[in-house]
Amino acid sequence: KCILESAKMLNLDSSVDASLNLQSRPDVQTCTYWKAAIIWEGMFDPRLYDDMHKSKGSSVALTVFAVGRYLDAYLHKFLNSSEQHFMVGLPVTYYVFTDMPEMLPDIKLSPLRSLKFIKVKKNSRWQDVSMMRMKSISDVIESDIRHHCTYVFCFDVDQVFTGRFGSEALGDSVALLHAHYYHLPKHLYTYDRNPNSKAYMETGDFYYHAAVFGGSWKSVKALTEACYQGIMEDKQNNVEALWHDESHLNKYMLLHKPSRVLSPEYCWDTNIGYRSDIQVTRLLWAPKHYDTLRSP
Ligand code: UDP
Ligand code: MN
Repeated sequence: KCILESAKMLNLDSSVDASLNLQSRPDVQTCTYWKAAIIWEGMFDPRLYDDMHKSKGSSVALTVFAVGRYLDAYLHKFLNSSEQHFMVGLPVTYYVFTDMPEMLPDIKLSPLRSLKFIKVKKNSRWQDVSMMRMKSISDVIESDIRHHCTYVFCFDVDQVFTGRFGSEALGDSVALLHAHYYHLPKHLYTYDRNPNSKAYMETGDFYYHAAVFGGSWKSVKALTEACYQGIMEDKQNNVEALWHDESHLNKYMLLHKPSRVLSPEYCWDTNIGYRSDIQVTRLLWAPKHYDTLRSP
């Protein structure tokens, strides 16, 4: 019913979902109040989404940053696993941002897939490496991605694909439910609550995880530009949002509702343990050894 109603509301993603017979699931929330689908295992027929996107000629840019020690620690596994599971069958271009292009691992790519690297300078604070991704992504969408790809997905590098992360995840503006917060009451969401920050918000719809976001190149460009502006304004005012770029992403998504939401299957942390609603894991958090990774 939700799907049909949203089709009527002319959310483009929802009318596609209605025509491809996206189902509901009884045990979890599968629709937001603004009628965007929340995608869980068992709701969709993967073949229908793949065929639809192939016939539309969809193509996907994946951006990932591997700066400093993160390159050696994570990039090889990230890319190898994404070759196995990310948008298989669609044209994919990896945009790898690194300060050490000469150290890039040698990855054998499948047909239809290619890799471009972009050299970035290493900010000394890890918080700045993380936040400045917004600027680099918006720049590369403008200079390159928008001429070649329909969609853009942006990922943290400290994760590993373990199951299908496919075309059912594509949409105009896509956000991910944070694995640690999706089942918690809203007052425990860790939004930025400092009124002096541009990321300030009292309450919101969900707590989104900035390790995965995406959408059409236009939407992702708008999002990354707005977040970057918020980050720079904060710097001028000498404040920093609690969870950096993630706080700004949550603020943006409050004001510009995503048209599609991904369940935590799309970025799961096995430390959480068993949950009956997680029927498949598609992307897993890799171990985080911050002490060695983030030391200068
Ligand atoms: N990153 C990086 N080098 C750094 C810090 C961050 O390449 O020194 C990139 C990397 O892609 C990483 C992302 O920024 O996955 C976000 O940082 P991190 O994963 O440490 O944040 P967390 O997952 O703890 O929020
Ligand atoms: Mn991370």
